[in-house]
Amino acid sequence: MELLIRLARQWVAGETIEDAVRVALAANARGIHAIVNHLGEHYREKGQVEATVQEYLRLVSQLRAAGVDGDVSVKPTQLGLLIDKGYAFSHILPVLDATKAWGRILWVDMEAASTVEDTIWIYENLHTRYERVGLCIQANLRRTEGDLRRLLANGARIRLVKGAYKETPEVAYASRAEIDREYVRHLETLFKEGKDFAVASHDGKMIERTLEFAKTHAGVPFEFAMLQGVRDPLKAELVGQGHLVTEYIPYGPTWLPYFSRRLRERPRNIVTMVRSFVGG
Ligand code: FAD
Repeated sequence: MELLIRLARQWVAGETIEDAVRVALAANARGIHAIVNHLGEHYREKGQVEATVQEYLRLVSQLRAAGVDGDVSVKPTQLGLLIDKGYAFSHILPVLDATKAWGRILWVDMEAASTVEDTIWIYENLHTRYERVGLCIQANLRRTEGDLRRLLANGARIRLVKGAYKETPEVAYASRAEIDREYVRHLETLFKEGKDFAVASHDGKMIERTLEFAKTHAGVPFEFAMLQGVRDPLKAELVGQGHLVTEYIPYGPTWLPYFSRRLRERPRNIVTMVRSFVGG
């Protein structure tokens, strides 16, 4: 278990708010903006949701007190989406108010396809109260083209990702080639119709295409977003070229599902893990 914790530290700041603040300040020192997420998802008990709201309020207050250059990102199912979307909305509101008082962005993560409709509903309601709310959109989903156009028409701030959840063929593209094709198509839409969006990918091909679009659509504000512990040299290179780079920093005691998702995403990570196991 201790070894697992040590390995997880590559991708997870630690278990406490102090860990998150420390890693966020370290990112800032490298010229990188931080986005902090308290790990936890799929809550069905109100007590868990209420504790999560309190955690985010403490988090915002401590990030603010420490002078972190950063934002926070929440998962709808950690704030009650599986209980009821109205309940989740009312529990995100205090976090929105705290983020607004701090003057920073509240990002809303996107989870499994079954939650997308309700998440967009929550996002749209939050957005009428505060302009600086962002929403994650997944290129693997077939519905994304329509969602993206509607959201952009209403001035939404978007984080574009490939999508981390296993979905059925009815709702999602499955092959890497199809997902990459969709990602590039949505990137182009973002450069033509959006602003202040986040290109959230570690894929060199997607980064290259973004840099090309940035040349042909000069002046469109956007940022690169990558996860803690992934492609640090690339982050430094992009910062060196004058791009805005943000790092998504998760923390909290329930890090195991997040850690497993990262391992599954890139089988080479498992090899690295086994090597360090063998090497002690
Ligand atoms: P992949 O398709 O995983 O990788 C493509 C290529 O990138 C690889 O072949 C390799 O060349 C390169 N690469 C990838 N990792 C490495 C590495 N460690 N070292 C060197 N090269 C590497 N998903 C959601 O569903 N909802 C969310 O809210 C969400 N938020 C996210 C926020 C951020 C900031 C980021 C970065 C991702 C988020 N994701 C989210 C996860 C996302 O959907 C993908 O699952 C994840 O980013 C992997 O896809 P990828 O685009 O990075 O490239």
